[in-house]
Amino acid sequence: MRFSRYFLPVLKENPSEAQIVSHRLMLRAGMIKQASAGIYSWLPLGFKVLRKIENIVHEEQQRAGHMPMLMPTIQSADLWRESGRYDAFGAEMLRIKDRHDRDMLFTPTAEELITDIFRTHVGSYKDLPLTVYQIQWKFRDEIRPRFGVMRGREFYMKDGYNFDLNKADALHAYNRHLVSYLRTYERMGLKAIPMRADSGAMGGDNTHEFLVLAETGESEVFYDNSVIALTFGDREIDYDNVEQCAGVLDEFTNLYARTDETHDEALFAAVPEERRRVARGIEVGQIFYFGTKYSEALNAVVQGPDGKLSPVHMGSHGIGVSRLLGAIIEANHDDKGIIWPEGVTPFHCGIINLKQGDEEADAACDAIYNSMTALGLEPLYDDRKERAGGKFATMDLIGIPWRITIGPRGLKNGIVELTSRRTGESEELSPESAVQKVISIYANM
Ligand code: ATP
Ligand code: MG
Repeated sequence: MRFSRYFLPVLKENPSEAQIVSHRLMLRAGMIKQASAGIYSWLPLGFKVLRKIENIVHEEQQRAGHMPMLMPTIQSADLWRESGRYDAFGAEMLRIKDRHDRDMLFTPTAEELITDIFRTHVGSYKDLPLTVYQIQWKFRDEIRPRFGVMRGREFYMKDGYNFDLNKADALHAYNRHLVSYLRTYERMGLKAIPMRADSGAMGGDNTHEFLVLAETGESEVFYDNSVIALTFGDREIDYDNVEQCAGVLDEFTNLYARTDETHDEALFAAVPEERRRVARGIEVGQIFYFGTKYSEALNAVVQGPDGKLSPVHMGSHGIGVSRLLGAIIEANHDDKGIIWPEGVTPFHCGIINLKQGDEEADAACDAIYNSMTALGLEPLYDDRKERAGGKFATMDLIGIPWRITIGPRGLKNGIVELTSRRTGESEELSPESAVQKVISIYANM
């Protein structure tokens, strides 16, 4: 992409409505624009990152064997009356009437709809296990929408649902989700800690939330600092392997890590003092096993091998796709702006021409731009006739992790400069080696 042709409405001033850094930076970097309270338009740069995050979620869900599908945002109230949640959801549910005066709603989640699909089409244990998911807009009329996309009213969420014959199978589905979530967040450059939480209105007693530590997080968290060192890395996982998935769950949930909802002072006190931490965290996902709560309410039964009918065991699993943009920025920024992790960056490399209009500099920039593009990378070439300082500041603000700077003086000696946004360190390289280096950085992503 050439900067001169891109729609990137960067703000010079700090927007006064933003209380936290991620919201401020998303507005300043021209990623989002508020349409009304808690509802945002996604401008090209923001939309690009949203898509990157969404793609990682899709890839990791499908790697775990879960099937993508799509359900509508507008639903009839009928199923929600059947489950008892039409009233229970209260003022958070956006209720709509159609022209026939029928009660409709904007989906805040989709347990009812998916259970209805299941009961219509599945009746035998032979069709189990089954796990489906969607990534779809949700609406919750939050009392206090704030912090930009972090607590929106409209937000983008992955919601997945597993259907299993019995508790043991459903717990395997639970473990499988936990493993796939660990991989998902790591690919985004995030440390998200699974913490035992409270299942609240969802029912059931198996639930973990995934929390990203950040001062601006809305949850209070208590944990053993040794959880920070746990990483999933590139280990091989067979998602059908019950023991292996259970083993990963044990490894990642054995140490004390809880949100305030389930915090236990006595257990926490057993953690060696120097490892005890109290901090704040952003909830970026949650998984539940809730047994037969919805299948009983909606009469979703399956026939077992013994011919007997019983309600299907279910769980549901959410990832806050749009909230993740805020969480990633909270965890990756400095006073100059965003620092995108390579896994989600909107552009792989910035190209800065120090002397736009200089024949040699222009030609060298074009050559680098073209060779990167030909190799499948997306560079952002700042080809504007602007001061170099302004170009650097913008590239830093929008957080592109690598930058190649090209000017007539370097070119005389056959070199360009490759700079890391995160460390600020620069290297002088030939144009070809600079491109090669950037290619190799992204080779495994
Ligand atoms: P919270 O406690 O933050 O209100 P929740 O527990 O009600 O969230 P879930 O039903 O678990 O949310 O939804 C799954 C994920 O969707 C959450 O983990 C969170 O990342 C995201 N999410 C929930 N509410 C919002 C919101 N208002 N804006 C943006 N993301 C949200
Ligand atoms: Mg939750």
